[in-house]
Amino acid sequence: MTDFFGFDGIDEEEIRREKARARELRKTRWWQQKTSQGKCHYCGGTVSPKELTMDHLVPLARGGRSAKNNLVPSCKDCNNRKKSMMPLEWEEFLAGRKEAL
Ligand SMILES: [Zn+2]
Repeated sequence: MTDFFGFDGIDEEEIRREKARARELRKTRWWQQKTSQGKCHYCGGTVSPKELTMDHLVPLARGGRSAKNNLVPSCKDCNNRKKSMMPLEWEEFLAGRKEAL
């Protein structure tokens, strides 16, 4: 692992591997069942199963893995929101949602 490119200890090769694994998992029955309800893990909203994206609870860039317990279905809104927020903001957003429920 080199810091030559300024990566913060994140192995690019490993991330590529995890992404490939996520793609494989997306083809499985496990994922089909998880998305069959069309339910977003974050907001609980219902969309067409096709519109759900596979999201890593702990992002790969933060050491997350493409494991079943780290992959959740997310609607596009939540996915975009998550991308546009800092990790801490996102966590606060989720915490706020839980309190509201
Ligand atoms: Zn959502």
